[in-house]
Amino acid sequence: MPIRNSRLNQLCKALRTAFTELLFPSTCLNCRLALPPGTLPMFCPECLGQIELVNGPLCPGCGRQFPKAAGGVHFCGLCLSGHYHFDQARAVAIYSEPFAQVIHRFKYQGKTHALASFRALLEMLPPESVIEPPELILPVPLHDRKLRQRGFNQAVLLASAFFPQARRLIRTDLLRRAINTEPQTSLSGKARRLNLKNAFTLRDPELVRGKRIVLVDDVFTTGTTVNECARILKKAGALRVEVLTLARVRE
Ligand SMILES: [Zn+2]
Ligand SMILES: [Zn+2]
Repeated sequence: MPIRNSRLNQLCKALRTAFTELLFPSTCLNCRLALPPGTLPMFCPECLGQIELVNGPLCPGCGRQFPKAAGGVHFCGLCLSGHYHFDQARAVAIYSEPFAQVIHRFKYQGKTHALASFRALLEMLPPESVIEPPELILPVPLHDRKLRQRGFNQAVLLASAFFPQARRLIRTDLLRRAINTEPQTSLSGKARRLNLKNAFTLRDPELVRGKRIVLVDDVFTTGTTVNECARILKKAGALRVEVLTLARVRE
């Protein structure tokens, strides 16, 4: 009976919500202040006020945020020099406190209940920061050994939180991290590029040919990692490669 089913569904949903509230009471992801149930993103007004959403003016290419005084829309020097292989990069927020700490807990302490809040922050962005649903979504892969240590790839979880209607487009088997590289954060710009040279391989290049692809990662620092992924995707004939990260460093 459809009516009974819909009541049952509502009841199940309400029970699920109550159960989730019990397991994960609404507290600010940063300062743990109690919040009204269902608050999204899960930040108290004070902490939310400290999160800097990337909201322009932006380089239309790499998404770098210009100082407000920098004038109208223009490409940055790196984009003009053809440094990037991807066509466009966008990020949700600037990698600064308190957001950086929340990302750290998500990534290294498995606080995955932050994902719904990451999605909610993405929805607060202005239109120029929005990435249209693509034909293929590729989370930046972790090396197998790191994946075993951590138990999950944060980029896969982010991809699924950012594109809830397009999860069937997420492929985790095409890009592979062949070399367990040194953490990029410890290296200079040139060393980063050398460190990542040939670090990724692409299985089945035919599947990316002619496609509009979005790469998803947690933090855009110098962009070297996503740039290397974009390079091999473009080499295999990808039509367009866009990048969406949860955060990017301030330049
Ligand atoms: Zn707070
Ligand atoms: Zn740029």
